[in-house]
Amino acid sequence: MSSICSVNELLNFFLPTPCISCEKPGSPFCLKCQARFPTSAQTSNRLGVSGFAFCEYGDLSAKIINAIKESGQTSLIGPIAGLMAKDWPKEISNPTLIPIPSSSKNYRKRGYQHILKLTAALEKRIPEAKSVSLLRSVGDREDQASLTPADRLTNLQGAFSVDLRGFKPGESPIVLVDDVITSGATVQAAQRALEEAGVIVAGFCVFAETRPRTR
Ligand SMILES: [Zn+2]
Repeated sequence: MSSICSVNELLNFFLPTPCISCEKPGSPFCLKCQARFPTSAQTSNRLGVSGFAFCEYGDLSAKIINAIKESGQTSLIGPIAGLMAKDWPKEISNPTLIPIPSSSKNYRKRGYQHILKLTAALEKRIPEAKSVSLLRSVGDREDQASLTPADRLTNLQGAFSVDLRGFKPGESPIVLVDDVITSGATVQAAQRALEEAGVIVAGFCVFAETRPRTR
């Protein structure tokens, strides 16, 4: 995958944006706001796949993910990878991280694969982690957010192919990486594609997840 910069990415590089939370200039997500942002690795289960998520998909996490995906603010990827690495569960040591790629349509629109960048940022921050891009997007699936739960599953049938060139499975747990999990349909489709290719997936890790309201 080539790492072409989009115009938005370039603009954000040369014109540093204010903090996504407090809006003070100087850093895309200042250390004060990062320290106040509640993250911890919590186990999560969706459609028979288990993993962990670091925060609830709420106002600030949604704003961060949206800025990365839609406004080219890839400078936010380092800070969120830092938060994930800080709370990374000790049980999952030396993981093999597999990014879940965006649809080809979104990649063409954005000019970059933000999950590949997130996975690369995690690889740098988690001891002994390595990232391997085994999944490829096939066809032009629709954005999951715009679909009903039933349509989400259909939309993802055959959404991924697996490229095992140069990959040697080892002892390390294979962990899928995504930004957010809602229904779990994307993670399930990615896991199925890998397992059909003979790659056993231990689980997923996502920055944010939707959580049921307790009240
Ligand atoms: Zn701030």
